[in-house]
Order: sequence, then C-alpha cells, then structure tokens
Amino acid sequence: MAYDPDNIFAKILRGEIPCNKVFEDDYALAFHDIQPQTPVHVLVIPKGAYVSMDDFSATASDAELASFSRAIGHVARDLGLVENGYRILANNGEDSHQEVQHLHMHIFAGQNLGRMIKPIDK
Ligand code: AMP
Repeated sequence: MAYDPDNIFAKILRGEIPCNKVFEDDYALAFHDIQPQTPVHVLVIPKGAYVSMDDFSATASDAELASFSRAIGHVARDLGLVENGYRILANNGEDSHQEVQHLHMHIFAGQNLGRMIKPIDK
C-alpha cells in the first residue's frame, strides 16, 4: 500500500494536530493513544513515511530501525512499566484491522492483559 501523507499520524508529525508526547528522538515519536484500551496505552511511530513493519524492516535505515526499537524501551522504562510488564502489538494490513496507515507499535500496560489472542471458534 502506498503511503498516504494525509493520515492522522503524519499530521501529528507535521505538528498540524497535537499529541500527548511521551518520548521523541530524531527518528521516532511516542505519544498516548487518544482512546486508551488499557490504563497505559502508548503508540510508538517512526518519523519516516512507512505503512507497515514489512515495509519499514525492508527499507528503513539502520538508524531508523534502532531508534524505533529503542523508543519502545524508553517508554517502558520511563513510564515504569518494566516491573509489572507490558504488551507491544502492531497491526499490519486488513486482517489485523489496522486503522491508521502509518506504522505504529501499541504499548499496553497498567492491568493484567489476559491472553494474547482470543482463540477463534472452530
Ligand atoms: P490501529 O487500529 O492499530 O491502526 O490503531 C490506531 C490507533 O490510533 C487507535 O488505537 C486509535 O485510538 C489511535 N489514534 C487515532 N487517532 C489518534 C490521535 N489523534 N492521537 C492518538 N491516537 C490516535
């Protein structure tokens, strides 16, 4: 899928709409999800124009890849999530119900998160 520069996270990166920032460096930004699904729900995004993890992992620079990974760790440590634990999750494409077409990693924490995926009834 081609990158749409009008997606909501691109607008956040351009400063056209606000975000509740948690962490930022040259290549990544982390901010609180606007509709948190757990007591702590943070999104980590690369600053570059990437739709999905398969795209990002194939075409991003080593600095971008390192920054994205390190940003997740910064959020976990800075928000005190390490002791009780947290979950990271990225939706990619239609079957995953990805809503915003700019790569983002969800960080969920602040409660017992239950099983990872609800088994499908067969
Ligand atoms: P996904 O379904 O994985 O694409 O998740 C998109 C996430 O972006 C959802 O959890 C939304 O609540 C969140 N979201 C949408 N708009 C904003 C915004 N302006 N600021 C922060 N989070 C947002």
